Amino acid sequence: MRAIWQQRFAETSDVLKSSQHQQTVVPVLDLEIGGSDFITMAGPCSVETEQQLLSIAHHVRKHGAQILRGGAFKPRSSPYAFQGLGLAGLKLLAKARSETGLAVVTEVMSEDDVSLVAEYADILQIGSRSMENFTLIEAAAKSGRPILLKRGMMATVEDLMRSAQVALINGNPNVILCERGIRTFDNALRNTYDPAAIALLKHISHLPVIADPSHACGHRELVPDLARIGIAAGADGMIVEVHPQPEKAWSDGEQSLSFDEFESMMTALDPWIALREAANRTLVETAG
Ligand code: PEP
Ligand code: MN
Repeated sequence: MRAIWQQRFAETSDVLKSSQHQQTVVPVLDLEIGGSDFITMAGPCSVETEQQLLSIAHHVRKHGAQILRGGAFKPRSSPYAFQGLGLAGLKLLAKARSETGLAVVTEVMSEDDVSLVAEYADILQIGSRSMENFTLIEAAAKSGRPILLKRGMMATVEDLMRSAQVALINGNPNVILCERGIRTFDNALRNTYDPAAIALLKHISHLPVIADPSHACGHRELVPDLARIGIAAGADGMIVEVHPQPEKAWSDGEQSLSFDEFESMMTALDPWIALREAANRTLVETAG
């Protein structure tokens, strides 16, 4: 890595690659995030009912997901929108894990809930709206669980790296960065997807980086395209929203893929994932 990046991001030196540390691999159950496999996290925006969650878990597992996502504590744009099932949602996620073997990622919004969420989840998600809550990140880091750190919707890449630095200096090396779209002057879509941030982070940081095409665009018909762009930008995985009846979802239905849409997206992504693996192999051979 050129010195220019070291100078530019000197404040977050632990996040940067070094000659001794090129890539962090985050272990989750028997999975490796940041290793050679592309990891798919999929599930509903919110955990709603047992039937909803279990049917989604079985479907996404069958079609290639390794990790189940689902919010039990929901940060919502409106105080009047559904705020999540809380503990009941966590219990349903744990049940889905024991039925399917999928690992579980779910959001924690308050430091008061960290130990509870860490009891049920394999990965703690720090949401976009919480990315600058250093007290929360510190508590999440100290739980020992891997952390999925989503980029704040108003955050620069450097802000995201600063938050990752907080987790690292609090003794947790297992941080996964997530590009989920930011607010810009363009309002055609829910957010502006920034795959350049994925490319940059993969270039300068040893932490795994994943794409969230669902929140990045807000419309299910664009999710497969943004997922493909994420793979091409170098992402180690993706997180996507799936619902059996997107039009009836309690949150983020417009961007949730139906079962058929998830299945066809995964089939369509197969050759791109294979290409990524071949390209990474070539890189390793060339470097060696
Ligand atoms: C979510 O994953 O459902 C979510 C609320 O994401 P973000 O924090 O990126 O808005
Ligand atoms: Mn959502």
